Amino acid sequence: MTKVLIVGSGASGVHFALTLLQKGYQVIMLDVGRERPDPVNPEDSFNDLKNNLSDPVNYFLGENYEAVVYPGSTGEYYGFPPNKQYIFDTPEQFEWKATGFAPLFSFARGGLAETWTGGVYPLNAEELRDFPFDYSELTHYYNEISKRIGISGTIDDLARFYPVHDYLLDPLRLDNQSSILLEAYQRHRNYLNTELNCYLGRSRVATLTGEREGRKACSYCGRCLWGCPSGAFYTPSITLRECFSFSNFKYYPNIYANYFKTNRHGRLESIVVESTGMKKHEEIQADTFVLAAGTLSSSKIMLDSIHRENGGNIKLTGLMDNRQILIPFINLNLVGHQYDAESYQYHQLAMGIVGEDTGKYYHALITTLKTALVHPIVQNIPLDLRTALNIFRNVRAGLGVVNLNFDDHRRETNYVTLETDKNTGETRLLINYLPPENESAVLKRTVKTVKKVLRKLGCIVPPFMMHLRPMGASVHYAGTIPMSEHPAPLTTSKYGQSHDYENLYFADGSTFPALPAKNLTFALMANAARIADRQF
Ligand SMILES: Cc1cc2nc3c(=O)[nH]c(=O)nc-3n(C[C@H](O)[C@H](O)[C@H](O)COP(=O)(O)OP(=O)(O)OC[C@H]3O[C@@H](n4cnc5c(N)ncnc54)[C@H](O)[C@@H]3O)c2cc1C
Ligand code: SF4
Repeated sequence: MTKVLIVGSGASGVHFALTLLQKGYQVIMLDVGRERPDPVNPEDSFNDLKNNLSDPVNYFLGENYEAVVYPGSTGEYYGFPPNKQYIFDTPEQFEWKATGFAPLFSFARGGLAETWTGGVYPLNAEELRDFPFDYSELTHYYNEISKRIGISGTIDDLARFYPVHDYLLDPLRLDNQSSILLEAYQRHRNYLNTELNCYLGRSRVATLTGEREGRKACSYCGRCLWGCPSGAFYTPSITLRECFSFSNFKYYPNIYANYFKTNRHGRLESIVVESTGMKKHEEIQADTFVLAAGTLSSSKIMLDSIHRENGGNIKLTGLMDNRQILIPFINLNLVGHQYDAESYQYHQLAMGIVGEDTGKYYHALITTLKTALVHPIVQNIPLDLRTALNIFRNVRAGLGVVNLNFDDHRRETNYVTLETDKNTGETRLLINYLPPENESAVLKRTVKTVKKVLRKLGCIVPPFMMHLRPMGASVHYAGTIPMSEHPAPLTTSKYGQSHDYENLYFADGSTFPALPAKNLTFALMANAARIADRQF
């Protein structure tokens, strides 16, 4: 039986692996694979943790206060909690430098989605128009991934944008503010739909509302940001555990993959790797190789392989990411009310906005504030600390943020390449990104629409608090080795098969030829399962 070697245990890699394992293939997975610490006091709610932990400050802010977001440091409204720092811990071998881009990398078991916010939005036929396959080719795999990970949601006004797939679980219990916003939407629905081309509804999230396969239903404990203790909230390490139950699966953690070696027929023969922390190289052979190391890391392995083979240093163009704007708001109906800490923490509502140009869709997620690290918000209020805290306590129950997402397209100006250290010969990933020229007009117009929507829903947007996130911050990277119907160097077939090396496949976002405004990970997982099922 063919031996398939996969690099990476993120959302793309694990679903590729599971599909192959179910078909009886022998699968080897190489991964740096930083491990998640065990959850503390798994039965405790967010508030229980504050009371029951011997050192809650250490847990919530870190031993060296590493989760504290200092004034002026990043402009973000949240920081990552200390127990999730392992997700962004990079091995010393991996070096990068970026211009116009603020990338995040993960070398964790499960990858970046160990800290995602669980939004799962299927790309529809219109959004797949630049892909070399039809929407119908993905539908089976949306169903399959939905069955594997568990997705809650409902069929409402947003179904016009989000195709309905099988195995949709009942939606989560709404928190108070989300429920008030949804009621307001129903009252003004006609105006919002017809005048503002805007639709509101329930989010689709990878969170269980019923128990299944050893995972509990969401208990509304409010600990989502610190890592769900019960497995109700899906992360790829859950699927990795499922892979472990197959005898035809071998997982090698603490391995950093460098580059491929080819034989004289131009086929990949082996991958050169090293144990993290050690500088000793070794080679691992396989019949077929699959890169699922995340778009940027897979691109680096491809660039390094070409560099080692012929000394050349090429550019992989077309890097994409979703521009995001954070629009904080205050729901005036909730000023002076109590907030409920025993709630699901991430977004429960979503918004679809039809743009002026044909086929344009902008995607927004509405997160109401419940439990979170609140100091980044307080310090962003443009007043002295005492006044800011007083105001914050009064408005807390009515606070929320709209995360507005824009689509992106492959452009020559946006690329990744290598820089070589003259002394050591080691390479570093260089990332270069320039936003499109007409971006600011589109952003302004769409933000204006969102502000009108919020006003209609009874909310105000405080001045000076909107935040244009840097490119790279959405962490939806794609496009460097695109799928193409026409075989050309540095592209792949519609099944992610490299046009440069016949026995190499790409299973992550590298192959996406376009990036619609919706969060891409559901499509990543479905596409990985599609390739593994149809091509193997
Ligand atoms: C805060 C946050 C919130 C997000 N929220 C959402 C959301 O709500 N919805 C959504 O759709 N998406 C969301 N995302 C994006 C989502 O997490 C990514 O799209 C997804 O994780 C990408 O998966 P991947 O498998 O392609 O790559 P990655 O997650 O990057 O996984 C890469 C894997 O490869 C391994 N690896 C990398 N390089 C090497 C190497 N050289 N050698 C060995 N192993 C290697 C790593 O250890 C890791 O296991 C969010 C991301 C973040 C950070
Ligand atoms: S998803 Fe969030 S609220 Fe639900 S059980 Fe997990 S941590 Fe608690």
